[in-house]
Amino acid sequence: MSEALNVEELFGSKVFNLGKMRERLPKGVFKEVKKVMDQGGELSKESADVVAKAMKDWAVENGATHYTHWFQPLNGITAEKHDAFVTHPDEEGRTLMEFSGKELIKGETDASSFPSGGLRATFEARGYTVWDITSPAFLKEDATGVILCIPTALCSYTGEALDKKTPLLRSMEAISTQALRIVRLFGNTEATKVTPSVGAEQEYFLVDHEKYLKRPDLIFSGRTLFGAPAPKGQELEDHYFGAIRERIGSYMKDLNIELWKLGVTAKTQHNEVAPAQHELAPIYETANIAVDHNQLVMETMKKVACRHGLNCLLHEKPFAGVNGSGKHDNWSLTTDNGVNLLDPGKTPNENIQFLLVLACILKAVDIHADLLRQSAADVGNDLRLGADEAPPAIISVFLGEQLDDVVRQLIETGSADHSIQGEKLITGVSTLTDIEKDATDRNRTSPFAFTGNKFEFRMVGSSDSIASPNTTLNAIVAEAFCEAADRLEKAEDFDIEVHDLIKEYLTEHQRIVFNGDGYAKAWVEEAERRGLPNITCTIDAAASLTTDKAVELFEKFGIYSKTELESRKEITYETYSKTTNIEALTMIDMAKKLYIPAVIEYTKTLADTVKVVKEVGEEATVQAQVLKNVTAELGKASKALSELEAATAKASAIKNAKDQAYAFKDEVKVSMDELRKAIDTLETLVDKKVWPVPSYADLIFEV
Ligand code: ADP
Ligand code: MG
Repeated sequence: MSEALNVEELFGSKVFNLGKMRERLPKGVFKEVKKVMDQGGELSKESADVVAKAMKDWAVENGATHYTHWFQPLNGITAEKHDAFVTHPDEEGRTLMEFSGKELIKGETDASSFPSGGLRATFEARGYTVWDITSPAFLKEDATGVILCIPTALCSYTGEALDKKTPLLRSMEAISTQALRIVRLFGNTEATKVTPSVGAEQEYFLVDHEKYLKRPDLIFSGRTLFGAPAPKGQELEDHYFGAIRERIGSYMKDLNIELWKLGVTAKTQHNEVAPAQHELAPIYETANIAVDHNQLVMETMKKVACRHGLNCLLHEKPFAGVNGSGKHDNWSLTTDNGVNLLDPGKTPNENIQFLLVLACILKAVDIHADLLRQSAADVGNDLRLGADEAPPAIISVFLGEQLDDVVRQLIETGSADHSIQGEKLITGVSTLTDIEKDATDRNRTSPFAFTGNKFEFRMVGSSDSIASPNTTLNAIVAEAFCEAADRLEKAEDFDIEVHDLIKEYLTEHQRIVFNGDGYAKAWVEEAERRGLPNITCTIDAAASLTTDKAVELFEKFGIYSKTELESRKEITYETYSKTTNIEALTMIDMAKKLYIPAVIEYTKTLADTVKVVKEVGEEATVQAQVLKNVTAELGKASKALSELEAATAKASAIKNAKDQAYAFKDEVKVSMDELRKAIDTLETLVDKKVWPVPSYADLIFEV
């Protein structure tokens, strides 16, 4: 029997959460902190000092020596710079462990080494980190020791957001304000705040660390840039939900423990579709905390993998031809008096507030499909969307049978008098209880699916931060709420006006609803007929950031300024070029130093064999044929290699960020594909013993 794990005690043990604050802070200070958390505003200088001291005492009791302002720059990962609590020694050479309110609230940092997309000239490097009181501080423990991490936002000297948290927090305020106007219209006078809740399911791959170390492509780019397919893929559907192997199981157990300590509610775990692919889902929580926690999930996944001799791949498409990894961003809106605005109840046709919210969301997603798509764009995700069991790059909304029927009634007749109800499920086995079915079946192919009392945005890539998708979702829905509220607040007869407005929105935006198979080719054509954008590439998506419609939306709600949007567009181009450049250089390096030498060696062995066999008077037809085939393919590889070198050099020399990104897309990527094709063919021809790197089969079937 294994020892019992006290999860209740373990959970949050490394977090300076509300419970610990209540214990450790004077009542008045605690109240003040809670008020700022709930309603915004500023903590007094005195209280900040008290909080900082309590936080530091707790951290030091738990072994901490340093603190850090933990933030999320625009490269999508987290950043930290550690400062010890030690003070200047006194006369007698003694130091103290101290931490002030000022240090807690504000940090000054050299921000010039983080992507800024032209927001700052590098000689103006000052950036500030500002404490996010709504996300609890936590302790990180590794070889460096124990570090107190304080979640912060990063802004430039002139106040522009240089990170992902600031716009997210701004968007949360915007949607709260606008959603409150909606619930007020329906007589809810109690609610003072509406919060987006987010649960992010995280997919990942695990590979053996020793094998990983033999693949420079995995090391430098996080994905395999070469590799012939294994004889078996996922066609037997024997991995999804399959029994979890011992090695993976012990990884998952450790991962859960680490996450629970950090207050992350790791809840569901299972094997995913592809061999070596898995998923973890936490329980949903406030968007801002969910974003921070998702970063911790990704970091912890990588850290724990090392301990188990594994490597965790978070790339969206680590293996060509095999299921890619995404992150399902489950999103809903809840008032602080407990109403989920996305809960339709049993009879959605009678729930006017829900229908209004739904109509607004459909309108928002239809008008800003390009922005929503952009919010989930990253270089790796381009390889995943529309390929092997991932949603297409076309945004559409799945409503399911019940809601689709209600929407149809409303569009056709202007009123909905019934809702399809879930029936009993008859199993035909007398010992199995007949159960209530959901009113709606699941759909797995939609990028934006209604799933009972939330929307599930399935387009997000597995390695990406979920900050931008949620910022955009909050922003576009806030705008639709605002426009609806503007009209409804002025209405002479509210009932008639809300009824007309719902019908109007649903009718105007019905093209965004699609309940069919999103993976089918036919949908791509149908979507084109409907005029829905199909943006297949990250750099194409970037353009949607600075359209008049986007600037108007984000500036109206103070979420991004035009300059901030332009900087994000610029960063997208830069990131695209840099990432592709690294991939191209890695391919060139691997081809030159690993594959081509191995193949040359092999041709020598073959040539020697042909010679020796002939010398003893036998025919060497097979040997000679293999030599011929290998030599021919080697020729192609060598030519493709030269072309890739030329294309990469040419693209690298381009100065304009956008032009450069397109050169990488249209020329370098094409050459990369050619080189890969030749090398992968060689892999199928050459003796496995001389092949210089682990194969797909070695990587995904032997973990
Ligand atoms: P599925 O595989 O059906 O998508 P999972 O259980 O894997 O379901 O994940 C569902 C995710 O949605 C979980 O993270 C869960 O906490 C989250 N979730 C459930 N209800 C809500 C809600 N009202 N708002 C936001 N997220 C939610
Ligand atoms: Mg899901």
